[in-house]
Formats: sequence, structure tokens, C-alpha cells
Amino acid sequence: MATPMVTGDGLLVRLRPARPGFTLRELIAVADAAEICGNGIVEITARGNLQIRGLGAQTVPLLAAKIAEAGIDLAEGLAIETPPLAGLDRSEIADPLPLAAQLRAAVAEHQPPLTLAPKLSITVDGGGHLHLGGVTADIRLRAVCVGGKTLWLLALAGTEATTKRIALLDGVAVVPVVMHILKTLAAMGDSARARDIEDATLKAGLVSVAPVDAVEPVKLATNSVGIHELGADGHVLGLGLAFGQIRAQQLRTFLEALETLGATEIRLAPDHALIVLGMAPDRLAAAQALALGHGMRAFPGDPRNHIAACVGAGACASALIDTRATAQMLIAAAPSLFDGSLAVHVSGCAKGCAKPSASALTITTAPIGYGLVVNGPASASPNAYIEEKTIRSAMERLEALVQQRKRAGESARSCLTRLGAEVITAAVQQG
Ligand code: SF4
Repeated sequence: MATPMVTGDGLLVRLRPARPGFTLRELIAVADAAEICGNGIVEITARGNLQIRGLGAQTVPLLAAKIAEAGIDLAEGLAIETPPLAGLDRSEIADPLPLAAQLRAAVAEHQPPLTLAPKLSITVDGGGHLHLGGVTADIRLRAVCVGGKTLWLLALAGTEATTKRIALLDGVAVVPVVMHILKTLAAMGDSARARDIEDATLKAGLVSVAPVDAVEPVKLATNSVGIHELGADGHVLGLGLAFGQIRAQQLRTFLEALETLGATEIRLAPDHALIVLGMAPDRLAAAQALALGHGMRAFPGDPRNHIAACVGAGACASALIDTRATAQMLIAAAPSLFDGSLAVHVSGCAKGCAKPSASALTITTAPIGYGLVVNGPASASPNAYIEEKTIRSAMERLEALVQQRKRAGESARSCLTRLGAEVITAAVQQG
């Protein structure tokens, strides 16, 4: 089990299965353990990690015992992540699972053991529809096809949009090159991240088999929520936790019912989601209805797919607002803003746990109630301040502004981008 982290609400533990997914019985055991040992809430993070909060010094060993009792094999150490449908997605250029396993083995066997920054991560992506392009990582590997040959694009630090491309590698070269980078990081100290490595150090002796610019930028990942076809292997169902969390007992009853519909495996997915495997196509609609009944996101058009919120007041001692109630209020007050183009983030404090990167609109806390950040993260200085009692009408005015000024065929996001922070600020502060 990963080392617990100290939060404003006791200790927090992240659980990553060693295999690509959990069985339903394993996840039921995790839900029961969260109920007994934690605050009774199970969270799936924006990058698809499962986490339990509200643990104490005595309950962490109890949680570890319950996980072991349930026979759950957890991944330890350096996070080496693959997409949720790795090995199943027909649109993948290569199955990333064997390469990820080779990397894990190389890291585990290295002597002396490498001491690396605790948050260091590697993504190994086969290049399918449900890719990890929006997830930040220190070392990124993506399968690409160049001149009819499958190669791995090595890039460092950031998301697909912000990362620095380094080299195109043959499959056999990947493990030695990544191990060289990891050893370089270990030599730099236990807090060194990939962004800290100098280009000259990195590229010494590194040969790219083709120019990195030959690779097209990755398209936006398909929304995890909804039904995904796997060709001859049938269908899988993506479901999202509403605002990234669910009560442990609610998760238990949901999984028990899902079992009766034939589900066999759950894989965690980015954007606070999970993918259900094993169900026959004629059971998927029933599973979606079941998920909705348990407060989950089950359809691609659900406005909650586009709003990130941390656990907020009641679950985190640092939170100054009820983030989930605020998020629901935003959807009710300005439904047309959630046309799928706009990413909105509601944060209980400036830390921005639910989405550390920038969002088109971020609602955070401020001494008078709320702060609105346009195109920025929760840690940025707000563009506008809104009193608690006027937040709803401020959002209604923002929606009205977009409706009035939107051009034919324009999305809410394009319209807001065109209007700019000053016009947005004036609209929300008008009252
Ligand atoms: S962002 Fe939310 S969950 Fe994170 S510390 Fe602040 S209030 Fe707590």
C-alpha cells in the first residue's frame, strides 16, 4: 500500500491495483474497508487513482490488513500507469501492458534500489481512444506509427499538450533509456522531477530513430463515460463518480447489483471514472440506469462530466465551501454553459486537488465567499470576487451573456474565450 499522505482531514491513502483492474469482490472489500477505517467515502481522482481519506495512525494498519485479507494485490512504488482499456482497445497502436510490466520489473530489480520523488510517474500509452494524454506525468511513452513501423514516443514532464518531446524509440530501446533517466533523477536527489533534467544531460548518447516532429499531436481522449465498443470483444461501460466520490456503502450496493448483471472487472479511469467489463450488450442499459440511481454519471451528455470538484467541506478540514453543492448549483443556474466544451473546477481551497492544472472557469473560496478564476488554476489570483448570496445570480448572468453573444455554431468555451476575462468579470460582478 502507498505511504499515507497527511491532509487536512487525517491521512489519505491511494490504492492502485497491480493488475489492470479490480474484481467486483475486491472493490466491495475496498468499499467496506473505507467504511470501517476511513471517512466512509471512496474517491477516484482525476488521474484515475482510488483514494480513501480520514484515516488515522491506528486505522492505516487495519486498512492494510483488510486489503491483504481480501487478497488484493496492490502496485507499490513508482507509478507506471496505462490507459483503462490497455490491451483491450482495438484502436491501440500497441498493447502497452507488456512494456509497462518490463519497466516495473527493471525498476524492482535495480540494485541498489532507486530513491525517487514520491510523486514521480510514468505513463505507457498504446495510443488508443481512451488515452492518458490529459494526465500529467514525468516520463511519457506513447505508441506511434511512423513509416509503417511501431515506435514509442518518449516525452518528459507534463500532459500531451505541454510535454517536451525527446525521442522516438524502438521497443527494445525503451527500458534502457527510461532506466537511464530514472538513474539520472535518483542521482539528482529524492525530490528531482523530470522537468529538472537538463537537455544536454538527457540527450547525451540518446538516438532518436526518426524526428519527433513526424508524430501528429494526439486527439482529445474520448470521454470515459458511456458505452465503448471493443470490436469482437464486445462492449464495456464507462461510469463516473459524481464529483469524484461516492459513499462506500452506496458503492457496495451498486457493485453487488452490477455483479448480477454479469460484470466481472472494474478498471479505474481518468476523470474520476471507472470502466465495467464483462457485461453482455443487453445488460448495459440496465447498468446505466442502476448507476444513475446511485448518483453516478452514466452518459456522455451528463453535465457533471465537465465539472471537477474536490471533496469540500465536511470531508476536508481545509475546505471553506461545500464544493459538491456549489457544483450542482452551477449546473442548475447555468445549464447551457455545460455543452461539453467548457471545463469548470470548484475548489474548496487554493490547493486545487481535484484539478491542479488550469480550467476555463475555476470557482474557489475567497474571504467574501467565492473567487472566480478565468483560464487558471485554483491557486491563481481570482479575476472576480462574488458574495456567497449572489453566486447563483452571478452564474445566471454569465449564462445570459453567453447566450446573447454566442455566434452560430459557437461553443460556450469559444464564446467565453472570445469575450475575454474582463467582459466575464464585469458580467459576474454586475449585481
Ligand atoms: S482543494 Fe479541496 S480537498 Fe484539496 S485541500 Fe483544498 S479543500 Fe481539501
